[in-house]
Amino acid sequence: GGALLRSLRDNLASVRAAYAARAVVPRRRRRFARVVLSLEEEEEEEEEKKLPVETSEDPHVPGLLEFEAADAKRLLPFVEAGRLVLQDKGSCFPAQALVGEAPRPPKAVLDACAAPGNKATHAASLFGGTVYALDRDPERLRVLEERASLVGAATVEPILADFLGVDPREFNDVTAILLDPSCSGGHRVSPDRLARLAKFQLMALTKALTEFPNVDRVAYSTCSSNDAENEAVVAQALQNANGAFTIAPCLRSWPRRGHPHAQIDAEALVRVDPIEDNLATPFFLALFVRAAPVPSRNND
Ligand code: SAM
Repeated sequence: GGALLRSLRDNLASVRAAYAARAVVPRRRRRFARVVLSLEEEEEEEEEKKLPVETSEDPHVPGLLEFEAADAKRLLPFVEAGRLVLQDKGSCFPAQALVGEAPRPPKAVLDACAAPGNKATHAASLFGGTVYALDRDPERLRVLEERASLVGAATVEPILADFLGVDPREFNDVTAILLDPSCSGGHRVSPDRLARLAKFQLMALTKALTEFPNVDRVAYSTCSSNDAENEAVVAQALQNANGAFTIAPCLRSWPRRGHPHAQIDAEALVRVDPIEDNLATPFFLALFVRAAPVPSRNND
């Protein structure tokens, strides 16, 4: 009994030491809020001036404001009024890469794993068109519906569906897919669970790349730092797509790029290291673009 207690106590002490070590790193505690883009630009600037705390514009994501974590409470009225969306910076990368950096706006976007809807409403605000927001979890989809209506994202269409089961012919107008599937989320998971997650991620990404002939851009993201859910999934999906898609560099001014991996250009991939980058969660993003343009869209 005594030995077990002692080992538990030692264990706890080492956990505490690890946290303490993190805590002494001198960093500002930062948070981010996305400005809801339904106002005219000038009105938006006016709105920003009215914010009760000091904010600065993020250099990588247009429309993203950075503020001190301690000020979050004072921004809540703006969040509750649907004027601001609290959203971590990495989580703003996919819609920015998929829609914000696209050479032309998509016809419609399909968000395959959309709830609670942060990326779907972000994508909608960037081009003003339809975003089919799929999720297979009814409770989470209800939250998405509420949040979309709060921020006035009227072009977000919530759909209760399993992405792996949908018929692509019902989404003929979709030219861009946002895929942000369930992942280990920066937690330690068993090898079994990791393998199941990676298998689902690969199936979903392969479907996005191979079953939608009108789609020419696909953003794949996770909030995991595991290569198995990130670079490995991307490399295998590229093979499955058989040359139809390549990886395109995105968020070029963001310095942290992918991990080296055979057959893929790590420089084109985006990563967030929560400690090094002082952000809330790990993040990974790969942007796929169709290698040969879709013939029917050539003369757009
Ligand atoms: N993109 C969301 C956002 O920015 O707010 C977060 C998505 S969360 C990481 C993953 C979501 O995928 C969960 O809501 C989960 O219910 C959903 N999901 C998991 N498997 C799915 C499937 N086969 N089809 C549709 N949705 C699925």
